[in-house]
Amino acid sequence: MINSFEDFPLDPSLQRAVRAVGYETPTPIQSQAIMPLLEGNDLLGIAQTGTGKTAAFALPILQLLLKSGKIRAPKCARALVLLPTRELAIQVSECFEQYAQYTSISTTCVFGGVSDVSQKKALIRGIDVLVATPGRLLDLIGQKVISLRALEFFVLDEADRMLDMGFIHDIRKIITMLPAVRQNLFFSATMPSDITKLASSILRKNPIRIEVVPESTPIERIEQSVYKVDKKRKGALLKALLLAHPEMSKVLIFSRTKHGANRITETLEKAGITSAAIHGNKSQTRRQEALGNFKCEQIRVLVATDIAARGIDVDGVTHVFNFDLPEVPETYVHRIGRTARAGKGGVAIAFCAPDEESELRAIEKLTRQKIQEGDSSIVKELPVQKESSGHQAPVANRRRPPRDSFKKKETHVSSSEPVQKSNAVKTKGKNRPGSRARKRFRAAQVEQ
Ligand code: AMP
Repeated sequence: MINSFEDFPLDPSLQRAVRAVGYETPTPIQSQAIMPLLEGNDLLGIAQTGTGKTAAFALPILQLLLKSGKIRAPKCARALVLLPTRELAIQVSECFEQYAQYTSISTTCVFGGVSDVSQKKALIRGIDVLVATPGRLLDLIGQKVISLRALEFFVLDEADRMLDMGFIHDIRKIITMLPAVRQNLFFSATMPSDITKLASSILRKNPIRIEVVPESTPIERIEQSVYKVDKKRKGALLKALLLAHPEMSKVLIFSRTKHGANRITETLEKAGITSAAIHGNKSQTRRQEALGNFKCEQIRVLVATDIAARGIDVDGVTHVFNFDLPEVPETYVHRIGRTARAGKGGVAIAFCAPDEESELRAIEKLTRQKIQEGDSSIVKELPVQKESSGHQAPVANRRRPPRDSFKKKETHVSSSEPVQKSNAVKTKGKNRPGSRARKRFRAAQVEQ
């Protein structure tokens, strides 16, 4: 096991970049994966975001690209990293750029939902590392702007999310375009049988298998509480808590709907609390701007829907609010896991309206713990606020949106917001009403 980056046989330019980003000790996945990858092995990595897996694959790929002596050919990529969402793609390509900052290696990132003009320009002369979401990549391949025939490295990251989001056909198509000789890296947080099958269709025989379990389940380090509060008073409660607690300094709030997210930021802005919302209706630029401002603490609060927040990695979130309880209890666990990162503690506060009691019970059952109630005296003193009651549909409607509305919304989905696509496919098939998949489908629909 290697305990220092200096012990890896990496080019001085990469060593310098590692120092510049401030990494001292390799994380477990880095100390296990970097050497076998440098030796040319395929890798099956069972690891989540937050384990340092990006550097675990990016550093050896950059090293091998530097040392191979090959040069990039026009309209060809030498390494491809596939990710399910544009946020993740941007995050990973930023890592490659940081690690390659003292080399001549070029990196570009392509994803849907934005104009392809600058993406095409970046690809025309050839690229060393291409980070892409599947839909836009296939578009660009179809337009003959980029080819995968000279690919030396193929990374499929977040494979389980790729499948959840309905990318399986796109991935299969991309695999048929890869050259036979290549080094493959496959990462997934979970390994159900369909992912195992996909992995074996990509990886060469006997890949190195590395499984990294997060150090401790973050939920154990998170102080959780729940406020029983009417829908109409949620906005006022949020405002009161934020005004009374300056230590809530980097706050992530989850809203079930896009409109709800907008209303929360309006309420907070009126109270002089800096905030921004990210969701599917916001342009890519606005989302990146909001995220950037939140990361560098220019704003105190980021309000997000689950889809928009997927995979976003922000250090030092002090508090996570579940403004609405999610229908799928696992989503609650994912949401609150945004705090208490890197061994730190964190606080999660949930608001539970009377019609959300069953969601609360499902969460407590899943986490096997009763969530303590917050100070009820604050709630009693609250005024009724119009903003938080909003225009949300009655619960009955939310639970069973008409099928037509699913279809209609599906037609507006861009390749970079593919969740609805996959879920829509699922409901046509084996998943019947009442199943967990159907619940996820409803949650995704409501968010749109
Ligand atoms: P990842 O799992 O690749 O998304 O990485 C999660 C976070 O850990 C990112 O903010 C990385 O910059 C950071 N990170 C990765 N490797 C190290 C390391 N060896 N030491 C400190 N931070 C790291």
